[in-house]
Amino acid sequence: MKYEAVIGIEMHAELNTKTKIFCGCKTDYGAQVNTQCCPICIGLPGTLPTLNKKVVEYAVKMGLACGCTINRETKHDRKNYFYPDLPKAYQISQYDIPLCENGEISFYVGEEKKSVRILRIHIEEDAGKLLHDNRFSGTLIDFNRCGVPLIEIVSQPDLRSPEEARAYLDALKAILECLGICNCRMQEGNIRCDVNVSIRPEGNEAFGNRVEMKNVNTFSGAVRGIEFEIARQTAVLEAGGAIEQETRRWDDDRGESLPMRSKEDAQDYRYFPEPDLVPIRLDRAYVEEIQSSLPELPLVKFERYWKEQGLTQYEATMLSTDKDKASFYESCIAVKPNLAKQICNWILGDIAKLQNQKHCLISDLSIDPSALCELIELNVAGTLSSTSAKAVFDEMVATGKAPGTIVQEKGLAQVNDEEALAAIVEKVLSENQGPIAEYHNGKTNVLGFLVGQCMRNSKGKGNPQLFNKLLAEHLNQ
Ligand SMILES: [Zn+2]
Repeated sequence: MKYEAVIGIEMHAELNTKTKIFCGCKTDYGAQVNTQCCPICIGLPGTLPTLNKKVVEYAVKMGLACGCTINRETKHDRKNYFYPDLPKAYQISQYDIPLCENGEISFYVGEEKKSVRILRIHIEEDAGKLLHDNRFSGTLIDFNRCGVPLIEIVSQPDLRSPEEARAYLDALKAILECLGICNCRMQEGNIRCDVNVSIRPEGNEAFGNRVEMKNVNTFSGAVRGIEFEIARQTAVLEAGGAIEQETRRWDDDRGESLPMRSKEDAQDYRYFPEPDLVPIRLDRAYVEEIQSSLPELPLVKFERYWKEQGLTQYEATMLSTDKDKASFYESCIAVKPNLAKQICNWILGDIAKLQNQKHCLISDLSIDPSALCELIELNVAGTLSSTSAKAVFDEMVATGKAPGTIVQEKGLAQVNDEEALAAIVEKVLSENQGPIAEYHNGKTNVLGFLVGQCMRNSKGKGNPQLFNKLLAEHLNQ
């Protein structure tokens, strides 16, 4: 029997507000343990929370970007549970009236456009962090993360494969980055997921019992976790067993999910309205203002780059999901719209390489978009070979000089003079009798080697297309 997976994802994203959700403590990552906390966020009795307005603004932004309805009257609720990283023994969250609900986001999985409904997006506070280390016995607690604002984005179970789940996660991350509301650094735990997976015989309408997998902290972990669960559940069913509704923990190092708790010991959170905070009431104008301030979203960008500007899907994805790359690309095509493809090649090629070497953003390299366009035009026009263009690029980044100036100073202009090139061709031919014989015996790819020899002789300045043409003429005489 063929089975189909049914997947839903709850994503927790830390908002990058300067201060915490209910107090004025900083949210900077990596600070000395227990230096960014106060009586409010460590839950001392008698303290009162005050809502950070920015948190609401950011969450509404995300809601609108995901096509959600914004509940203009909403409230906070207490979710009660005991765990050492939660000093109040309750988390301030939202229960029956989330700030945002009933949205939908679209993205591509290969050529296919896919939509996933968003059930809800609500705001809540993060818990502290438990520190386990071999250097000491027991467990220590860092409260710095207590009260860092989170949004929880809950999808409907609309995903059907690990690939779709990955594309959905990438799409959400791209939106968060585009809105600038989350730092999206997985290694700092800015994004954490719980993944619900069930399987059902293909063609069945009814859902199977679902397994909730917690502790999924990377997107690749989500994909592997889902693959693992599908395989595990399929094996259980095929052996005549039944899937129990349960919560499991994903262990990324072991590459498997492990039982955590069954349906019977599911927790009762005893939600009730938070008495220490007033309800949230938002003006229609406030929501409309946020709506009109939204930037162009990644999917719209992607489709524009792909369908209108002739980039491949891969290229369009690489640019549209990276704010820094997209912004530089946009400033370049504003100068030369007809060079979209070449600009993209540079961004994903030499510029990306340089970024990797320097571990920086394009914006840190201070490349002038007009200068890059000038360089590309010199290359396209045949004044500069591709090899020399790279050399000019390096010089341009290092000195800030204009490409034209560098070409003149270094004498890098490409030689397009056929007579000058013919002399080099003859020299190369006279020195390579062996390869010529191979060519005449049908090994025509020797031509590439000979072009390379000509380029070498011309110190990279000869026009390779012309060398190719001249060599072919000689050899076929
Ligand atoms: Zn605090």
